[in-house]
Amino acid sequence: MKKLIYCSHCSNKNSYSQIDGAIRYHCSKCKTIHYQNPKPTATLICMKNDEILLVKRAFDPGKGEWSLPGGFIELGETPEEGAVRELKEETNLDGEAVKLIGNCSHFNSVFGDILLLGIIMKINNWGNLIPGDDAQSAGFFKLNESPKMAFECHNKILSIYKKSLHKL
Ligand SMILES: [Zn+2]
Repeated sequence: MKKLIYCSHCSNKNSYSQIDGAIRYHCSKCKTIHYQNPKPTATLICMKNDEILLVKRAFDPGKGEWSLPGGFIELGETPEEGAVRELKEETNLDGEAVKLIGNCSHFNSVFGDILLLGIIMKINNWGNLIPGDDAQSAGFFKLNESPKMAFECHNKILSIYKKSLHKL
């Protein structure tokens, strides 16, 4: 990752070598270790009766393809707070995060390494649905007839959800 060539603490050139149990960027001058972590996203499962809400993406990556609604959790937010905010931004819906159902890691994406958290949402009033900033349209699909989505991790989270239904 280009941005880690120099130490953000003292501007010395970083080393990229074994330290604290892994290969990491670190500074030999001020001893700062520059840890890199995946960015967490809230990836939302919103069921309307027996149909799932998908949004058609307005921007790349995956422009024009279907995906689960959701997005990056901001600093200071819990996953549940991020889920509620993203739901509102993308669909204008108000809802509550009901349950964390699983996760999926996606490495080296456009946004770097991402940790997707699958969250089941309860929607308060479906009548408020308006596709928002990152979504050009919204659609409802039967679980077994949903289209292949833009991101493999969204397909995986949906399959985790489907499997969880059989255990109920
Ligand atoms: Zn340094």
